[in-house]
Amino acid sequence: MTERFAQASGQGCRNAPVLKQRGQHEVFCGLTSIVWLHRKMPDAFFLVVGSRTCAHLLQSAAGVMIFAEPRFATAILEETDLAGLADAHEELDRVVHELLARRPDIRRLFLVGSCPSEVIKLDLAVAAERLTAVHAPQVRVQSYSGSGIETTFTQGEDTCLAAMVPDLPAGPEWPEARELIVAGALPDVVEDQMRDLLAKIGIETVHVLPAAREATRFGVGPGSRVALVQPFLGDTLAALERRGARHVAAPMPFGAEGTTAWFHAIAEAFGIPPEVVDRAVAAPKARAERAVAQAAEALRGRSVFFFPDSQLEVPLARFLTRECGMEAVEVGTPFLHRQVLDGDLALLDEGPTLSEGQDVDLQLDRVRAARPDLTVCGLGLANPLEAEGLSTKWSIELVFTPVHFYEQAGDLAGLFSRPLRRRDALKVGAAQPPAMP
Ligand code: SF4
Repeated sequence: MTERFAQASGQGCRNAPVLKQRGQHEVFCGLTSIVWLHRKMPDAFFLVVGSRTCAHLLQSAAGVMIFAEPRFATAILEETDLAGLADAHEELDRVVHELLARRPDIRRLFLVGSCPSEVIKLDLAVAAERLTAVHAPQVRVQSYSGSGIETTFTQGEDTCLAAMVPDLPAGPEWPEARELIVAGALPDVVEDQMRDLLAKIGIETVHVLPAAREATRFGVGPGSRVALVQPFLGDTLAALERRGARHVAAPMPFGAEGTTAWFHAIAEAFGIPPEVVDRAVAAPKARAERAVAQAAEALRGRSVFFFPDSQLEVPLARFLTRECGMEAVEVGTPFLHRQVLDGDLALLDEGPTLSEGQDVDLQLDRVRAARPDLTVCGLGLANPLEAEGLSTKWSIELVFTPVHFYEQAGDLAGLFSRPLRRRDALKVGAAQPPAMP
């Protein structure tokens, strides 16, 4: 375990000290992101090259989805594959061939690396090239890592999207063609709301990465501007920047304030006056503010403690403290990507401990000492902490539930207020005498 504090200075939490810890951690690996990515790309299939552990992880993370013929599977490495890499490549080719023969609707195939495939140094990039040569043009084969050694939870989306970028065609030049790339997988209904508002602001060409279908791939180049809707896309952003695209820095579009700032930043990058944005967003923004105010009644004045999980923690803490009146005790994140989070860090008032990485026992000591009103943590910690009398919110729900932009702002606050309301209701219930027969 290592521990050190960076130097403090400046506004908000932009330059606040960060508690960096390494030790035992309780997080998902990047394979989990397949569960939401495969729904966003209906012509793609995710083939994990891993062990039975990886297959079991996907089964438990996907829950009932595994009964709906999902477009992901695990090619399980057997002992013979471990003995000879040549056999492993042959075996993989055979599995892919059979899969593509059985599922002719597949247009994109992702070979997803795992801890076992990485430990035996099975080169999936080479396998992807070889398989693309065989199965092109019907199927494009790509590879990325979702292993627990390399990735934490939502980072699996980052490695997946980053792997797609080098393959995108050359894009437009600035300023003749000006195009916006929005990076991050959003539920369809939320993506439509976002596109609608961007069109009202006057931004006509909007591409979303991941594109829903292989046929709608788009170009990237110096005419591309990139806005992120998820804070965990550092590698994807870097890959797009290497292709000439420019980053539009903005707070993440959570809550009325974050969403408004996000649209303003994009409008500014496109030379559109702020009044145009204010006019376009006035009605949904007012709706969002009303919905948040209502849901935040149970949150005002309460304290919140974030365990590291999805990298959404900093923008969510910003939303909860500024729009819902909560006090943040600790904001833990698996990685603190300062370039991506600059806008959110600047808005987050100084005060909470910012922590990066995890030594779970030490963090549990801190949460027990602080006794926050609400603890945001993973499934493995939630029930034990509830048994100790702490109210918890499962962080995984924040990744699966539509929470971005105006129309979801009230629901986002509701996700945090529900556990507190439930606890209050149970207390009231417990105080009542049992009903007489
Ligand atoms: S990739 Fe690694 S951490 Fe993830 S399930 Fe497989 S073995 Fe476990």
